[in-house]
Amino acid sequence: MKKHNFSAGPCILPQEVIKKASDAVLNFNNLNLSLIEISHRSKDFVEVMDKAHHLALSLLGLENKGYKALFLQGGASLEFLMVAYNLLERKAGYVDTGTWSSKAIKEAKNFGAVQVLASSKDNGYKNIPTSYEIPTDLDYLHLTSNNTIYGTQYQSFPETSVPLVCDMSSDIFSRVLDFEKFDLIYAGAQKNMGPAGTTLVIVKEDLLGKVSRAIPAMLDYRVHIDKESMFNTPSVFAVYTSMLTLDWLKDLGGIAAIEKINDQKAALLYGELDKNPLFVPYADKDFRSKMNVTFTLADEQLGDRFNAMWKEAGINGLNGHRSVGGYRASIYNALSLESVQVLVDVMRELEKQA
Ligand SMILES: *Cc1c(COP(=O)(O)O)cnc(C)c1O
Repeated sequence: MKKHNFSAGPCILPQEVIKKASDAVLNFNNLNLSLIEISHRSKDFVEVMDKAHHLALSLLGLENKGYKALFLQGGASLEFLMVAYNLLERKAGYVDTGTWSSKAIKEAKNFGAVQVLASSKDNGYKNIPTSYEIPTDLDYLHLTSNNTIYGTQYQSFPETSVPLVCDMSSDIFSRVLDFEKFDLIYAGAQKNMGPAGTTLVIVKEDLLGKVSRAIPAMLDYRVHIDKESMFNTPSVFAVYTSMLTLDWLKDLGGIAAIEKINDQKAALLYGELDKNPLFVPYADKDFRSKMNVTFTLADEQLGDRFNAMWKEAGINGLNGHRSVGGYRASIYNALSLESVQVLVDVMRELEKQA
């Protein structure tokens, strides 16, 4: 039987997507060729790329609004520096809400002045700072919508006239937002969209071309826009499988439909964490992530028994990130409510036995 996969990334994908992707690896579009052995310039693959661009923009409600979608390589980590390379002329603002935003800050400092407007580091990144001034002369403000490691998530975004850049690697396509608020969104595929190997970038075209430095072609968003994500050989398998996942989401009813299920999953799991005395939720209540649920055991001595029980129940990937410890249940789009129920049942059983 398939495991209940709570892995943080790479992570669960819809079973039917994995089936279709594996079929395409054997025989793509009845060409009697594999998806991974045909030219990326062939008509069949160009159609995949077009469809992937189109699905990403339409699911986010950003079609015909001046945005372009790109499928690039190098992970979200390359975007940490690409954003600054393309946008940072004088000064950028960053909010530090965890490991990933700290890394983004570090990279941006290579390109210009970086002002860290607020940080929740002193609080163990258990919350998201909400009150800080946003200078109006920033080239952009960079946020991380969901903090995968600490399990916190922006519940609302600051109002500002400054261009907004957001790392949405671990919660893109999981909840309805006014995506038009953002000028640039990036997300590594391997959290909520597809396999590792491609990064979705959504960028408002009028944001680009404003810095004075020369930008190497491979790092220039305008080059990738001009070549429709085919400046060099794209990551064909990752793009194809991401396209399948986006198509799956569209058939399900889009982001609004998946958000309802995500809300139910989060309510079930946090509800148990709040009432079961054996567990201690990590993130502050007002900033809890609906994608990565972090918690510890009140009594560490129960660790061995709890670990044996969830493994026995067919659960995979529940260990917390090495920097936080404890547990992390990643409940991305493709994870079912039934899988969350299995985890909750294990937690209740532990309480009964303890
Ligand atoms: C995983 C993750 C990253 C890093 O992604 P890579 O594709 O491995 O570079 C960056 N930001 C967030 C929010 C993440 O969850």
